Amino acid sequence: MPRSAEVVIVGGGVVGSAIAYELTKRGIKDIVILEKSYLSSGSTGRCGAGVRQQWGLEMNCRLAKGSVDIFENLSDELDYDIEFRQGGYLILAHNDAQVQQFEQNIKIQNSVGIPSRFVSRQEAREICPPINTDTFIKATYCPTDGHANPFRTNFAYAKAAEGAGVKIFRYTEAKQIILNGNKVSAVVTDKGTINTPIVVNASGPWSKEVAALAGIDIPTYSERHQCLVSEPIEPMFETMVISFQIGIYLQQVPHGNFVMGIGETEEPSYNMRSSWQWLEFMTGELLDVLPVVKNLRLVRQWGGSYNRTPDAAPILGEHSQVEGFINAVGFSGHGFMIAPMTAVCIAQSIVGKNPPVDISPLSADRFHKGEMIIEPSVVG
Ligand SMILES: Cc1cc2nc3c(=O)[nH]c(=O)nc-3n(C[C@H](O)[C@H](O)[C@H](O)COP(=O)(O)OP(=O)(O)OC[C@H]3O[C@@H](n4cnc5c(N)ncnc54)[C@H](O)[C@@H]3O)c2cc1C
Repeated sequence: MPRSAEVVIVGGGVVGSAIAYELTKRGIKDIVILEKSYLSSGSTGRCGAGVRQQWGLEMNCRLAKGSVDIFENLSDELDYDIEFRQGGYLILAHNDAQVQQFEQNIKIQNSVGIPSRFVSRQEAREICPPINTDTFIKATYCPTDGHANPFRTNFAYAKAAEGAGVKIFRYTEAKQIILNGNKVSAVVTDKGTINTPIVVNASGPWSKEVAALAGIDIPTYSERHQCLVSEPIEPMFETMVISFQIGIYLQQVPHGNFVMGIGETEEPSYNMRSSWQWLEFMTGELLDVLPVVKNLRLVRQWGGSYNRTPDAAPILGEHSQVEGFINAVGFSGHGFMIAPMTAVCIAQSIVGKNPPVDISPLSADRFHKGEMIIEPSVVG
């Protein structure tokens, strides 16, 4: 365990690993990642790993589009196949209010270069032949949205960061953050103390606890979400299908399995077990949207955790009360898809440069200033 580091990152998920890698590209290499378990043991290894750019706020469109631009070249850049494929995203509109909302969204998306558009029910059926077109009136489609392998993306960033000199301590927990006045001065772990002026909180579901180690209270909480995978059948479509109204998302992966999830009302907790109740709810809703799966057997079901904020938008950037304490947390159900651009923005701000996307509206201060982010296109 080193006695000091320029930056200590708490959390070895996709966000912490990507931030470490982006920092090395900017010349900071004296970095420690602390991971209390194994890489991808948190939300990253439990996520649906859908990557969409169809958002309703310009800032979110820019974070997502910037991330897709990075995802497109990431396997080459990191010399590790992250299995990114762009099969598109089909978003179902079930009523006139949603159609109006999506019209506004598409204008914003197109203005930043995202090639989304409306499709009729007929065209939606051409994109996804087994979909039940009785359940929606129109859809939006973006062909450059897609999916990547979350484990491989996490490992690819971590390996590239390690190759550039970053030290990753697995099974090592941050236990305390020592301040000198209002500045970060050290991180105490279960294996020793590291002096550092900068700590990045990339601890996913445990973000509130890690902030509390520095005496900071952030309004994040964790909530169970579940996914399941069916047995494979002949591949029929490549797009991800989602409905904000039902809270469902599903795709057929290249091997032919269906992977899907749905949001359910849950109390805040760290419970990551899967449940029969959710399975019954999920399959009931699913059969309306995709009747073809009716007699398929299930291969696997699992639970994970969304780290949420009161407005379902992440908390990014240095905390106003503690110099050197940087949050990259609270991503709700979309931290994987915006991790690449988030990492660029956080790394830029650490080296004192302007991030390519203005993330200042995402500071923790927005909650007590009454400046919550109202994003109309969130699942679950
Ligand atoms: C069922 C489900 C489906 C999802 N689907 C999608 C999707 O389709 N698209 C999408 O973009 N996002 C999706 N998400 C959200 C996505 O998984 C997360 O937003 C993202 O993975 C967050 O990454 P992270 O690196 O911040 O957190 P994590 O991957 O949770 O990493 C945080 C790490 O910090 C470590 N840690 C915590 N405390 C400490 C400590 N004190 N000391 C040391 N280490 C510590 C943990 O062990 C953990 O490994 C989904 C999530 C779930 C649960």
